[in-house]
Amino acid sequence: MGERKLASRLDRLGTETAYSVAAEARALASKGKTIYPFHIGDFDIKTPPHIIEAAKHYLDEGKTGYCDAAGIPCLREALAEEITSTRGVTYDKDEVSVQPGGKSVIGKFLQVCMEDGDEVLYPSPGYPIYESQINFLGGVAVPYAFKDTGNSIELDMDKFSKLFTPQTKVVIFNNYQNPFGYASHETELREIAALCVKHNVWVLSDEAYFDLVFDGTPKSIVAQPGMKERSVILYTFSKSFSMTGWRLGAAIGPKDVIAQINKLNSNQEACTNHFVQFAGYTALTSPLSIVHINSVRDTLLRRRNLLVEKLNEVPGFTAYTPAAAFYVMVNVTKAMEMVGVKRGDLESFRKKILGETGVSFCTREHFGAPLDGERVQYVRFAFSGVDTKVIEDATAALKTFMQNFLAPESKCFDATNSAHAKLSGAFERDGLLVSGGATV
Ligand code: PLP
Repeated sequence: MGERKLASRLDRLGTETAYSVAAEARALASKGKTIYPFHIGDFDIKTPPHIIEAAKHYLDEGKTGYCDAAGIPCLREALAEEITSTRGVTYDKDEVSVQPGGKSVIGKFLQVCMEDGDEVLYPSPGYPIYESQINFLGGVAVPYAFKDTGNSIELDMDKFSKLFTPQTKVVIFNNYQNPFGYASHETELREIAALCVKHNVWVLSDEAYFDLVFDGTPKSIVAQPGMKERSVILYTFSKSFSMTGWRLGAAIGPKDVIAQINKLNSNQEACTNHFVQFAGYTALTSPLSIVHINSVRDTLLRRRNLLVEKLNEVPGFTAYTPAAAFYVMVNVTKAMEMVGVKRGDLESFRKKILGETGVSFCTREHFGAPLDGERVQYVRFAFSGVDTKVIEDATAALKTFMQNFLAPESKCFDATNSAHAKLSGAFERDGLLVSGGATV
């Protein structure tokens, strides 16, 4: 047999490298090391019983055949109603295409709305599948950045607005963002929408964390003027209903786009699992689900507050409070310097902390290629799968380890100090902490 060659397009396909961190942590655990797992955004909270019971019921009832590629009508209707009532924009069932998870919306949306060579603006750091799919499907991936203001993370609107060119055809926007947990306020949503309208681009509004916003009422960019007709919402059951492994989501957008996405469904998976769709219908329509979502949000809020507080007691670590989702991005620029890892080598820092303390996390590098001139160094802690005891133990282990690197005079560490003031004067004078508007 001659040389076997795989398709060259595969060179452009990325993956979720967070799973290799999980494998590494598992391998250490199997050798008896205590691991504190903050790497993957999966839940230790089970799918609520009423949804599980519904799935069993529909299996017994024989909802096990092929069904409509667009999804079962009652689920599409329920989704249209849910989006209409929570986003403040009217949708009907023909604007809904059921998907095997939210993730599949990304590639299908790009296949329908992006031509070869089109520029696509996407957040970086951001959910890694955006970059992977843009490159794989022949687009030009143009990342937009966030900035560290010294006490919070913000979208760098100034830079964002300058990225649009005549070749820009698509914007991927993820309000309630992974990994920063960042929430755009109303004025920013209006500005982003105005830019999208002005440049006449398609928009993917990734709303995976819409139900997990800690303060205030969540807002969708589709409610801004001129947005409904150019936007596709990525909806998922994964986070709101603790259904990550069920693989159920939807694309919601203009009828002509949805009709093409339905055609892709029939070419790819034929349809989403029949009985899972019916369980999703129960998830959306049962009052018990509201109780579940509220209790998940409360649990996550307790974890978030504890984690941010405790991480800020770790020498060299600076954490801001995320507004939504279940991730804390931690500025470890100082910590890397303290342990002697050079800036840019986040992977060595991750491995060192994992090996020394058992605390397992992803780094900025797991969320898209770093941008030119990026100086602040971040790691991401996911707190969806860890209870408060794990948070206490993990942060105590981190603190003990990092205290070894404090200058002698600051070893009696005052936890009430601000995160920035907690290191010795020597470190502060070195000016190693890059914040104050630095692009990340
Ligand atoms: N979008 C974002 C921002 C995410 O973080 C995730 C999963 O973590 C998804 C989409 C996809 O989720 P799923 O495929 O489970 O619906």
